[in-house]
Amino acid sequence: NGTRSVSTAASTLTEAFHAEKNADGNYTVTLIPGDGIGPEISRSVKAIFAAANTPIEWEEVDVTPTIKDGKVTIPEEAIQSVRKSTVALKGPLATPIGKGHVSLNLTLRRTFNLFANVRPCRSIQGYKTPYDDVDTVLIRENTEGEYSGIEHEVVDGVVQSIKLITREASERVARYAFAYAESIGRDRVTAVHKANIMKLADGLFLQVCKEVSQDFPNIKFDDILLDRACLNITADPSIFADTVMVMPNLYGDILSDMGAGLIGGLGLTPSGNIGRDASIFEAVHGTAPDIAGQDKANSTALLLSGIMMLRHMRLYEQADNIEKAVFGTIAEGKTLTGDLGGKASLTEYTSAIISRL
Ligand code: NAD
Repeated sequence: NGTRSVSTAASTLTEAFHAEKNADGNYTVTLIPGDGIGPEISRSVKAIFAAANTPIEWEEVDVTPTIKDGKVTIPEEAIQSVRKSTVALKGPLATPIGKGHVSLNLTLRRTFNLFANVRPCRSIQGYKTPYDDVDTVLIRENTEGEYSGIEHEVVDGVVQSIKLITREASERVARYAFAYAESIGRDRVTAVHKANIMKLADGLFLQVCKEVSQDFPNIKFDDILLDRACLNITADPSIFADTVMVMPNLYGDILSDMGAGLIGGLGLTPSGNIGRDASIFEAVHGTAPDIAGQDKANSTALLLSGIMMLRHMRLYEQADNIEKAVFGTIAEGKTLTGDLGGKASLTEYTSAIISRL
């Protein structure tokens, strides 16, 4: 009997972004530079966005946490900034090490109820990988499933982990998936599940996706078992190039990294965490402590996350322009950072992109 709070396709997307322009005609966007290579790749993104005349004013905040009794607390100023701007670009954060500490990323996810994790994976021309035709979009339910955190020991040697699936969370993410498909011009949504085994939990998820599909007559709906999806995506990823895949939390966690593997690893993979009150866009890679501060990092994943963010803000022209410059620079192959087999510094890579804008 959960209340149904998300109503129409249009509102699903507008609710996620409702920032207003400030007096100068710019949007304020929160920037969380992050740790390790975070500050340098953030500088690269800022320089490229400025050169592309994006109407963005960055509000830079520090999210260095305080840890009290195992609880991670983010500075209030940072939380208020994200609440106000409703959209943030985030560099990688080092996870505090220590038993019982909840990660900062998880804390952000919970604070802003970021219910959908959007992970596109697209082959990049000029960066050779075993596949050259990957163009998948995967949406992961981000709040429940196997990650509900409800676990207990029944008796010694027997534990139970609860997989929680609710109509409300399933409907919210399914609606977002259909609305997102519409917004990026795809006409199919595919639910990925194991309803043959988890008849009740995945059965409910699948059922809700089917119900939601009724509200989107222009979009086809189909479903596929997770194991079959893994087999098919590695045999021929192009069969998912016209659809948006939507799935419960754990499956999304695994399948999204599989997609990243197909395009050559996490280094080039962007993501968006969509919430009702705010949305946070971030690269999938970590802080790369081994190369931090050496002007060697590749800013592509954060740039592509920023481009997703621009489209979320409906700044399509700027998004397309920057995307063309990034892909053009990589395809040319002359100015690549070390991780892509080149010798360029991050500064040189950034300048090469700017020269194409
Ligand atoms: P990592 O992604 O930081 O690094 C793995 C390897 O990839 C390293 O060799 C690194 O140099 C390279 N690499 C990663 N990003 C790169 C980039 N943009 N350009 C060039 N090379 C790049 O993974 P890790 O070493 O397992 O984690 C380091 C820290 O990052 C840990 O504290 C971890 O918790 C954190 N982390 C944060 C996030 C996040 O904030 N979303 C995600 C993953 C890991």
